[in-house]
Amino acid sequence: MNGSLVERVHAALTELGLSQADALLESHLERAANQQQSYADFLLGLLGSEQEFRKGRALATRLRMANLPYAKTLSDFDLGFQPSIDARLVRELQTLRFVSDASNVILLGPPGVGKTHLAVGLSRCALEAGMSVYFVTAHDLICDLGKAARDGNLDRRMRLYEKPKVLVIDEVGYLPLDPVGATLLFQLVSARYERGSIVLTSNKSYTDWGQVFGETTLAAAILDRLLHHSTTLNIRGESYRLKERKKAGLLGDKRPAGPALAPAGAGKRHVTHGEDDNAPGA
Ligand code: ADP
Ligand code: MG
Repeated sequence: MNGSLVERVHAALTELGLSQADALLESHLERAANQQQSYADFLLGLLGSEQEFRKGRALATRLRMANLPYAKTLSDFDLGFQPSIDARLVRELQTLRFVSDASNVILLGPPGVGKTHLAVGLSRCALEAGMSVYFVTAHDLICDLGKAARDGNLDRRMRLYEKPKVLVIDEVGYLPLDPVGATLLFQLVSARYERGSIVLTSNKSYTDWGQVFGETTLAAAILDRLLHHSTTLNIRGESYRLKERKKAGLLGDKRPAGPALAPAGAGKRHVTHGEDDNAPGA
């Protein structure tokens, strides 16, 4: 292809906004000549590199918007370390069917067992599948909505948390909520009910949620909506942080028994009222 013709192709690619195809045009032309590619093969290669580039850029944008606390994935998670987690259940969650079903995932367990890591890993899967995710701690969420309510723009702010396909609410229960905070969380859970998934982590068993929310009626109402379509993973084991400190020789080797947050049977699906002592209001 002569110089001016290649320049005209560059100009057309620029005008069409195909920046990656524009940048890689020469290398694709060279490969086509060397490998005696068909016209269709050449075009597919050129457009394919543009598609890949755009997908990567869109993922980077979604990742930035998702506000994840760290960049870990599910494959970084050592399931062998935490036998109370049903690996099949994690694989099932990884299919993201729960997102299509607008179903929730509740990760319960003591500190350091990997609740946030799993929530981040699932978020990453959803982001890679092209879905929108937003990660927030319960504390930041309530502060933000509380401020919006005081400033008179609660509806607008609420929409930010209603919109993403997956909303992660991390660390519910670390700090008790005042009645306004509990009501705001109830409003949000109700707004997302059967519309969008919530992935929630908590160090408190469902029986302690009354205390967290200051009153049992509201806690029961929140749990009722949250658990209607949901999967609960009860992680009962040792803190991974502790293991790492032990490995570094900072602690003895005696394993502390992790607090049992639920009776036997980790990873129950569709927990419902009265099924066990994790049922709302039980
Ligand atoms: P939690 O939210 O339950 O308090 P995190 O998910 O923050 O705990 O985990 C604490 C740290 O240990 C994080 O750095 C996390 O990546 C790591 N971690 C926890 N469990 C595992 C695991 N099973 N495999 C690999 N890393 C883990
Ligand atoms: Mg955490």
